[in-house]
Amino acid sequence: MTNQAKQPCLRVIPLGGLHEIGKNTCVFEYGDDIMLVDAGLAFPSDGMHGVNVVMPDTSYLKENQKRIRGMIVTHGHEDHIGGIAHHLKNFNIPVIHGPRLALAMLTGKMEEAGVMDRTILQTVAPRDVVKVGQHFSVEFIRNTHSMADSFSLAITTPVGTVIFTGDFKFDHTPVDGETFDMARLAHYGEQGVLCLFSDSTNSEVPGFCPPERSVFPCLDRHISQAEGRVIITTFASSIHRVAMILELALKNGRKVGLLGRSMLNVIAKARELGYMRAPDDLFVPIKQIRDLPDRETLLLMTGSQGEPLAALSRISRGEHPQVQVKNSDTIIFSASPIPGNTISVVNTIDRLMMLGAKVVYGKGEGIHVSGHGFQEDQKLMLALTKPKYFVPVHGEHRMLVCHSKTAQSMGVPAENILIIDNGDVVELRPDSINKGEPVKAGIELLDASRNGIVDARVLKERQQLADDGVITMLAVISTDGVMAAPPRVNLRGVVTAADPRKLSLWAEREITWVLENRWQQLSRNSGGKAPDVDWMGVQREIEIGLQRRLRRELQVEPLIICLVQPAPGGTPAYKGRADAEPDTRPAPRAGRGGGRDGGRDGGRDGGRGERPERVERSQQPRRELVAVGAAPAPAPAAATPARVEEPEISGRTRRRRSAAAS
Ligand SMILES: [Zn+2]
Ligand SMILES: [Zn+2]
Repeated sequence: MTNQAKQPCLRVIPLGGLHEIGKNTCVFEYGDDIMLVDAGLAFPSDGMHGVNVVMPDTSYLKENQKRIRGMIVTHGHEDHIGGIAHHLKNFNIPVIHGPRLALAMLTGKMEEAGVMDRTILQTVAPRDVVKVGQHFSVEFIRNTHSMADSFSLAITTPVGTVIFTGDFKFDHTPVDGETFDMARLAHYGEQGVLCLFSDSTNSEVPGFCPPERSVFPCLDRHISQAEGRVIITTFASSIHRVAMILELALKNGRKVGLLGRSMLNVIAKARELGYMRAPDDLFVPIKQIRDLPDRETLLLMTGSQGEPLAALSRISRGEHPQVQVKNSDTIIFSASPIPGNTISVVNTIDRLMMLGAKVVYGKGEGIHVSGHGFQEDQKLMLALTKPKYFVPVHGEHRMLVCHSKTAQSMGVPAENILIIDNGDVVELRPDSINKGEPVKAGIELLDASRNGIVDARVLKERQQLADDGVITMLAVISTDGVMAAPPRVNLRGVVTAADPRKLSLWAEREITWVLENRWQQLSRNSGGKAPDVDWMGVQREIEIGLQRRLRRELQVEPLIICLVQPAPGGTPAYKGRADAEPDTRPAPRAGRGGGRDGGRDGGRDGGRGERPERVERSQQPRRELVAVGAAPAPAPAAATPARVEEPEISGRTRRRRSAAAS
């Protein structure tokens, strides 16, 4: 093992695309050379509020950027090229080799990001061989996929040849007539393939993937039978599907209106480069399409994944300026939801149906086929390439496991198969496959500007805002550590049964606790003058305390923002109600602070005096529950300085706690 470890090896490191569908980014490394294969993006999952796209963490590439010799692009899908323009802002890629269509789409993204001068784009044709660095030579093998102009790769390295399938299925009657170059795969299989990295997306599905052409008659039937307008949604990047839809519009005497930026862009690019043939007069600008009879209209648009801002989603919410749903419309979903988008897709379908349209969707209709091969396609790939080692890629964990079983059924020994995760390092030598020491991998979340990075802290705060709302609190504290005025508490989006006075009382208690137990550490008396107070620290301590208390008493975890307004030393203390009211029981409604409280809320909210009242009403049936739940805990806890040991500390609290401790 130690001898072997000294031999040079090929290192293959996926930074994205494993245990997920999306952001495929793979690093090939030998000696001093790094070659990248694809760099995609993923879309945010539920709860990633305000996140626009998800990128892989590329710290490893930034650290090793001097060794990057170039990049290979397999095809133009977003999960393969969507990250490139962003990465070019952060590190150099001297040259990018890829298919014409993918590079044309990439050009648009790079222009938008202002990084056109950061790399050289080299278009390849089928069977072209390019050299990257000293050690890699890559042959582009035409394959078939839902995107036109797509390739598998044969990567020749000093330790042997690796076949990297890219996204593929075996489609023997492709829409554009460009068939899978299986002879080339077989050629490499005969010569000997060290390792196969293969697309696992549909490894759980038995059989062969139906050809793309098979949707043609089904779409034709729905379009020809439609009495009114036809509205179709699909991925803009499903070039073959879009080409067929245009062909069907022509056949059925319907003019086409396009909606959605990506639909317009992709079709313009694909027509310009000859991947789609459609006469100019087939298209009618969306503003003029109302003038046509419904029976002569076909609208092709984005929104097949229920993306909230896409054309069809806006139409379903009645928010589109040009298109409103009519009873006579036939709306066709020619796509299946990506896992994670299912809920937004079915919601969109529901809304469209409620508006009276006929909606055609789902597996049974024959209006969609996948672009990724099923089990039998995957077996055919294994049979042609006859790899010694096998690594399933492009899929969630269970898909990788399933694909590895298929490979075993084809005679690849289990010990020759590696199931890896993002950041894992596959070390390949002529006679071995091993997992090396992993590199840093993770995610980077970008906001709508695609420049701002949404870090874990921001995300956690957004989740708190969305789930539990926000409480702001203003505390007036004098420089000699005295609460100089009652705290002002303000709630937004917080659903609680608690009396507003109770919240004020709790705020008071937390302030008092911090002043009694933490003031010494947080203020430094530098000899006679005004003490040097760590006001941020005071705020943090109060926030932490109130957060803990709310979690304990009310089982809510709103974001808490405490602002401290310093008052001059010697300001008389506000006595508060904390001493007058026992902590273990709910505040009596006609308590000492009642009048003061009411006045404060009124003043704070200006004209909006309705909130305290509403809270009062809604709390009536539940107040007892709160009181019962609250009874045993608060007083001792509030008085115990050992609260650092609270077991359930949220991410935000934990961070703040450690910040406060340091
Ligand atoms: Zn793809
Ligand atoms: Zn893909």
